[in-house]
Amino acid sequence: MCFIWTCTRYLARRNPKVCVRISHPLAVLFVILTTFFFVGLQMFYVVPQLFDVGGMMYKLGWLLAIFIMYNIFGNMLACHVTNTSVESLPKDRQVAAPEEEHLWHYCDICEKLMPPRSWHCILCKCCILKRDHHCIFAATCIGHKNQRYFFWCTFFMALGTGVAWATHTIASLKYFIYSNLHSHNLPPFWLVFTLMLNTYALAAPVSLVIMQLSELGHNGALYDFNSDIYDMGLWENFKMIVGEKVLWTFLSPTVKSPLPHDGTQWKIKKADISEY
Ligand SMILES: [Zn+2]
Ligand SMILES: [Zn+2]
Repeated sequence: MCFIWTCTRYLARRNPKVCVRISHPLAVLFVILTTFFFVGLQMFYVVPQLFDVGGMMYKLGWLLAIFIMYNIFGNMLACHVTNTSVESLPKDRQVAAPEEEHLWHYCDICEKLMPPRSWHCILCKCCILKRDHHCIFAATCIGHKNQRYFFWCTFFMALGTGVAWATHTIASLKYFIYSNLHSHNLPPFWLVFTLMLNTYALAAPVSLVIMQLSELGHNGALYDFNSDIYDMGLWENFKMIVGEKVLWTFLSPTVKSPLPHDGTQWKIKKADISEY
């Protein structure tokens, strides 16, 4: 993951156009292919080692797999189509009100004042509200308006690979459990190999979820990671990402959940004043 991150940053700085043209389709294709690969492997080869294909548990397995896939692809698509740039604001909110001006900063590239916590992205070619990072897998920047979808997308990727990893491990252990002193019943090579692949596949989304949770803990973003001045407590921080429906947003990216503000106003901890 760090290797992909470093390569993308290097390419983005050297040639943003090429970076967008190459990395975006490759990254999206990678997510689609690996998701279908692991779901197919899980449902057609690994789960049948544990449950009867015609039984209730197998059918429940399919329901879970479809729910997880729907949320991975649905949240990924919602991430991509949700415009979180400063230009997505109503015209009158794109300009600082006189009492807000001292809190806004000047963007040399856009050549105008921008709201607090917004930063310019050389790949999106605009300033992004509460910019977190540019995600090649969603082919857009992650910021104030689409962080909800990124959060749940990585969560479901971690959940899916986690469930697959647990099933793989139990299916492998089953061979050892049925062994006895006279017969060593080893799992087939393909099961051990795909278990190793699954372990690598689990590491990437889990590290992304850990990163998101550590940001959530102090209402930070990747570009102000060490600052906790916007920390309003875990529940309020979570609401600022997923919106008023909070945990209901787990069910689907289509659940309407308005955000508490438009991304230009950030309360500061302790000082008890609002940044406008
Ligand atoms: Zn800018
Ligand atoms: Zn961007």
